[in-house]
Amino acid sequence: MNPPQADPGPASKSRLFCPDCGREGSFPEEWVVRTDGDRARTECPACGAVVDDRPRDRSAVEPGNGE
Ligand SMILES: [Zn+2]
Repeated sequence: MNPPQADPGPASKSRLFCPDCGREGSFPEEWVVRTDGDRARTECPACGAVVDDRPRDRSAVEPGNGE
């Protein structure tokens, strides 16, 4: 578990890594974020892989049947 490099400073920005091509970049500036309905999908601009796919930000969790 060796980090590639030491932190340059306080981690105020989120960093994302593409599992497909290994691209690294700060989020969301260096990534392609698409919103589709209630979902927000983050894609790698280099290879097009979906790096993150999640429901769009909601402060409230829908009540009802949990799993
Ligand atoms: Zn990629």
